[in-house]
Amino acid sequence: MDKDEVCYWCGKLATSREHVPPKCLFPEEKDVKEIYAQSFRNNLITVPSCDEHNMAKSHEDEYLMACLSGRVGNNAIAYVHNATKVKRSRYRNPNMIKIDGEDILKIDGKEFPVQCVTVDTNKLMHSFEAIARALYFYERNKNFKGDCKIVSRIFTHPGYKKWSDFHVRAAKMIEKEQAHWGTEIRGANTDIFTYQFSPVDGFKCQTLALTFYKSTKVYVILSSMTKEETEKVKLKFTFITKAIFGNLE
Ligand SMILES: [Zn+2]
Repeated sequence: MDKDEVCYWCGKLATSREHVPPKCLFPEEKDVKEIYAQSFRNNLITVPSCDEHNMAKSHEDEYLMACLSGRVGNNAIAYVHNATKVKRSRYRNPNMIKIDGEDILKIDGKEFPVQCVTVDTNKLMHSFEAIARALYFYERNKNFKGDCKIVSRIFTHPGYKKWSDFHVRAAKMIEKEQAHWGTEIRGANTDIFTYQFSPVDGFKCQTLALTFYKSTKVYVILSSMTKEETEKVKLKFTFITKAIFGNLE
């Protein structure tokens, strides 16, 4: 890497390159070659990073992998990935994911064994923020200086109704808008990961849609408004902007 490259997140001098999203999300050839005659690691994106903001160095990447690939509803390649690489890493680090219990899920009369897990939401949100900031840097060649807010149906929990309702409602709204963005969907390994930036709206907000394993969707709302600007337009806020700035009533 070049000597004067800066970290995608904080702008300090970079010490390494970081894969975005983390490389471990993409299945290794040895694990899938019996089933798929293709590579799932084509043209992976990298950005310069300092030690603090390198997800691989902080082992945040493995946690993200374990939480995402095992989700019900993902595609078959995620299932294979979960049964190989993810299983190995959970064997090495048994405390990585907290299992609450086993259950059987019925889909079209078929039964699927599933595990119920409690995820560390803050850790996951931090990972998605890192991915968003890294993709922004990759696309624009500059650091994103604003705030990030994460919205996803994966953040629902029967014990937290208000919180769950917010994520479902907000995700639904964004999904509706996304159909009209008209921007390019990017990513060289579409079975594993794609991303799409929305146009920037009148509130200096831009939404980034991340799709993992064709089905797990996470939205990161990137807001560039200053505090003063926020105060000025507060009355005009829509549901989603109220949510972003934390005054959702
Ligand atoms: Zn940094």
